[in-house]
Amino acid sequence: MKRILMLGTGGTIASQPTENGLAPQLTPQDILRHIPAISGMCHVDALQVCSIDSTNILPAHWLDMAAAIERHYDAYDGFVLCHGTDTMAYTAAALSYLVQDSPKPIVITGAQRPIDVEITDAKSNLLSSFAYAASGYAAGVTIVFDGRVIPGTRARKVRSKSFDAFTSINYPELAAIRDGRILSYIRLPHGERPRFFHALSDRVGLLKLIPGIDAEVLAFLFERNDAVIIESYGVGGIPQPGSARCLTILDAALARGKIAVLTTQVQLEGSDIGLYEVGHGFKSRPNALEAYDMTTEAVVTKLMWILGSTKAPAEVRRLFYTPIAHDLLMEDSRP
Ligand code: ASP
Repeated sequence: MKRILMLGTGGTIASQPTENGLAPQLTPQDILRHIPAISGMCHVDALQVCSIDSTNILPAHWLDMAAAIERHYDAYDGFVLCHGTDTMAYTAAALSYLVQDSPKPIVITGAQRPIDVEITDAKSNLLSSFAYAASGYAAGVTIVFDGRVIPGTRARKVRSKSFDAFTSINYPELAAIRDGRILSYIRLPHGERPRFFHALSDRVGLLKLIPGIDAEVLAFLFERNDAVIIESYGVGGIPQPGSARCLTILDAALARGKIAVLTTQVQLEGSDIGLYEVGHGFKSRPNALEAYDMTTEAVVTKLMWILGSTKAPAEVRRLFYTPIAHDLLMEDSRP
C-alpha cells in the first residue's frame, strides 16, 4: 500500500463557522475522519504546516511547505497538501519552483465548501487527490480539483463559488478523475531526484494597468521591489507618452537595474508584445522581459524564486526564459 503524507494548511476545507464567518479550525486528522474510505486506498499520516485562510499566505509559508516535503520526502510515496482555494494557484506555482523534478506526486487540493456541511466538494476532492497521489504514475506538483488534474504552474481559480473552481491556462489538463478512476491524458516526464530550493525574494510587485492609470504607482512599485510585473492589455503594450508617464518611469527603473516583466490581463493565449507599436520598443530595453504564455501566478512566484538566488540581470533573464515544470512553451521564434 502506498504511503502518503497529508499536509494541512487551513482553507475552507478545514473551516467551521465562527462569530465572524468561516475560519480554519480542523486539523488534518479531523479532516481524515470524514473520509474513512481512505484506509482502503493508501496509508496516510498527517501533519499540520499551518492553519490559515489562504488569503493570509506569505512566501514564508511556501518555504515551510517545501521544507516539510523535503524533510519527509524519502519516507513517503507522495504528498497531498490541503489548502485554501483563494491563493492555491500561487502556492502550486511556488511549490513547482521550490521542489523541481520530483518523481513523487505533490498534489494540492481544497474545497469551496467546508468538509462538515451536507453539500460539499471537500470529500470528493480529497478522495480524488489521494487516488491520484497513490496511483503510481503521478509526479511533480499538481492541483487536483473537481476531477481535474492541472499542472502546478498552469492553474488559475476562475470561479469564486462553484465546485469547478480551477482551470488550466494555456496547457491541457493532465488527467480526469471520475468516481476514483483516473483517466490519464498526459504523463509528463519527470526527474530521478527532486531538487529542493530554500529561498524566495519578496521584492516582486505587480501592477494591473487601467486606462488613465497614475503612473506614479509604477514608480512606487519599482522603488520597493527588484522586479515589477506589468499586467497590460491584449497581447501587451505600455501606454505611450501623452497617455501616461509609464515609459519614462520604466526607463529610469530599468537603467537602475530593476527587472520589468510585461504580461497580459487576458486569461488565455498570452502575450506577443512585438505586434503593436505600443509594445514593440519594450523588449529592446535592458532587463525587460515578456511572460508569453506563463500565468501571472507563475510569473510572480518564478521571479520570487529566481531573485531568491540571483540578481544578476543576465542570469535572471536566462532562468526566466528557461521552462520549469511546464510553465512556458517554447516556440522557435522565442529567446
Ligand atoms: N478563503 C478561503 C481560503 O482560501 C477560500 C477557500 O478555501 O475556498 O482559504
